[in-house]
Amino acid sequence: MAEIIDGKAIARAIKAEVAARLQERGGAAPLIVAVEVGQDDASASYVRNQARQADRVGILHRLDRLPDDIDDAGLQAHLRRLGEDPEVTAIMLQTPLPRHLDLRAARAAIDPEKDVEAVTTTNAGRLVSGVHRVAPCTALAAVACLEAATGGDLRGLHVTVIGRSEIVGRPLALLLLHGDATVTVTHRHTRHLAQHTREADVVISAVGQPGLVTADMVREGAIVVDVGTNWIAEQNRLVGDVDYEAVAAKASRITPVPGGVGPVTVAMLLRNAVHLLDG
Ligand code: NAP
Repeated sequence: MAEIIDGKAIARAIKAEVAARLQERGGAAPLIVAVEVGQDDASASYVRNQARQADRVGILHRLDRLPDDIDDAGLQAHLRRLGEDPEVTAIMLQTPLPRHLDLRAARAAIDPEKDVEAVTTTNAGRLVSGVHRVAPCTALAAVACLEAATGGDLRGLHVTVIGRSEIVGRPLALLLLHGDATVTVTHRHTRHLAQHTREADVVISAVGQPGLVTADMVREGAIVVDVGTNWIAEQNRLVGDVDYEAVAAKASRITPVPGGVGPVTVAMLLRNAVHLLDG
């Protein structure tokens, strides 16, 4: 039976580090401003959780809720004003945005030096070049879970990533390459997915499809990191992409859902907020 990779413990350690770093630094507390357009229940609860956790490590947090009929120009102007406000040190834009708004153009209005989720093309480019201070939080969290399982060394590991989104799969592949892993990135059009996962020392799934990763797709002793979060309304519970019980019987280490990558993602947001100060 696989050993559980305890995301809550990893998150606690990162938050303790963040709090200590802020104490040592002194000066004004960083301020994260989350910008939300309209009202989305899932996003609101995510933001509340962030605010609570930020408070515990000494980071200020504010929610700017904009009307859901705001236009592209209004949203971009708000984001630019935050960029110019010296009290604001970190900006995040909650998604999904209402359909009439252009997400890419809105992200382009975020000051890259305050881009705490690393969603601007400037920060994506820095990540490609390996000169990044921040990276997308979920990708960082998946790597931190993997490092906790391996003792930190990724060199030479063959990692198969399932999913190639801009905020998870792609930056994750880059972070793994920077750690000298050998990376296979798979997606919707990949043929023979199981062949790619069975060959891997590590399987990381970031898709959003319950039951996608089954025991026959994972080799004996593999490490499995499940980024997926899927709400199963009939069962009133959250599950990942991995058929957990069956895969855990075969893997050497595995992240649970909930309690795996999720809590580490919030801790990474706070760590990014501190890294931005070191500009
Ligand atoms: P996304 O933008 O929908 O991307 C999903 C990716 O999965 C796409 O690249 C897609 O391929 C690929 N895919 C879909 N079906 C597939 C299949 N059958 N086989 C292989 N690949 C397939 O989602 P996301 O934003 O990256 O999020 C992924 C999951 O992570 C979701 O469950 C989300 O809720 C979760 N998540 C968790 C956290 C956390 O803190 N734990 C944070 C963010 C996201 P194509 O590119 O070809 O379409």
